[in-house]
Formats: sequence, structure tokens, C-alpha cells
Amino acid sequence: MTKKEAFEMMRKPRPDDACILCGGPVSLIGIFVPDNPMQYGAPMNKTRMIRYCLCNRCHKKTDASERVEKALQVELLGVGYAIS
Ligand SMILES: [Zn+2]
Repeated sequence: MTKKEAFEMMRKPRPDDACILCGGPVSLIGIFVPDNPMQYGAPMNKTRMIRYCLCNRCHKKTDASERVEKALQVELLGVGYAIS
């Protein structure tokens, strides 16, 4: 499978899709490609593509990308964040 094919497959809606931040109805399917894939459990020199969904409301938030990144880390690695 080429990277483009993988990309297209990941962008297709799935029945159990929900907003990653609030669980609401999905209006956007995004692919997150981390700068440092090893942080997300990928072997060195491998690209990691992570699919995520957002609702319209969360998508519009100014800190959406930062929140998505944190939510993905929690989902994939079980990383806990201290909230101050
Ligand atoms: Zn949402």
C-alpha cells in the first residue's frame, strides 16, 4: 500500500467515529503525523500516521491541534497529564 492509499483509507468515515475531544458527531477526519514518531510508539525512521476525528465545535477551538495531540498521546500511550 502506498502512503497515498493509506491516507485515503484513513480519511473514510467509520461507523464508530466520534470526536476525539468530546465524543460528539464528527465533521472532520484528520491525519496527525507527529514530528517525533518514536514518541508515538513508531520504530525509528518510520512515519506514524494517526487518524482522528473532530466535531465542528472542537475543530473551531484555537487550541484544537494542541488538544488533539495530547488526546492522541493519552489514547495511544496512556500518558497521563497533570492538570494544573
Ligand atoms: Zn468535539
